[in-house]
Amino acid sequence: MRKHIVAGNWKMHKTHTETLALLDEILSKKQNSDTEIIVAPTFINLKAANDEVVGKGITVAAQNMHQAEGGAFTGEIAANMLTDINVNTVILGHSERRAYFHESDGLLANKVDTALKHNMRVIFCFGEELKDRQKNNHFNIVEYQLRDALFHLEKKDWKNIVLAYEPVWAIGTGETASPEQAQEMHKFIRSIIEKVYGSDIANDVSILYGGSVKPSNAKEIFSKPDVDGGLIGGAALHADDFLAIVNAF
Ligand code: PGA
Repeated sequence: MRKHIVAGNWKMHKTHTETLALLDEILSKKQNSDTEIIVAPTFINLKAANDEVVGKGITVAAQNMHQAEGGAFTGEIAANMLTDINVNTVILGHSERRAYFHESDGLLANKVDTALKHNMRVIFCFGEELKDRQKNNHFNIVEYQLRDALFHLEKKDWKNIVLAYEPVWAIGTGETASPEQAQEMHKFIRSIIEKVYGSDIANDVSILYGGSVKPSNAKEIFSKPDVDGGLIGGAALHADDFLAIVNAF
């Protein structure tokens, strides 16, 4: 059965010192639970973060990586650089990468392939923009994003895929999809995965919701049957808020 996951995407926040301080606070306050806790600090702090939490029930993830195996790509990070420091989970396709760094679903398909080749787990982000929802086109957009980036995968690959539905209009805006809107979309996502890959894979894949999740709304969102956790931005930068969300299951 699929697992509950709460992942904190720290984006371009937290120095090395602040990273360790936040992790120590999370470690000292976290309670035992079946929910997997993931944190994604910036590249430069990944090794220190991983060393800090090793064996303590927190997974460290990268926020991005390059699709190539290495080479002349100034400023980029390859998969084997992550796995060599025991970072085996990577967020791909975040809406900020799509918007500011022009990452398309075609490019993301290549990144997903590279990550899987290195036995990494992918948290794949996707979601419609406000204009898509206003035109009632959000289901089509989400289906195309999944098809173009993921539906070339084989069945066996899906054990390393986590989905994160993040409506762009809800990210960092304070605007949250209602629990009903989240459930409606998550159910739709599971149904199209079932159509392509069958019910076992559809039932096993964890689908996270992201977009202005906070302690005050997490419980209601997570109570929906097809919502298996959250990808948290702003509220992940404070230990108490983040752990309140983790404990919302
Ligand atoms: P937010 O960000 O929680 O600040 O809306 C979510 C995300 O970008 O993953």
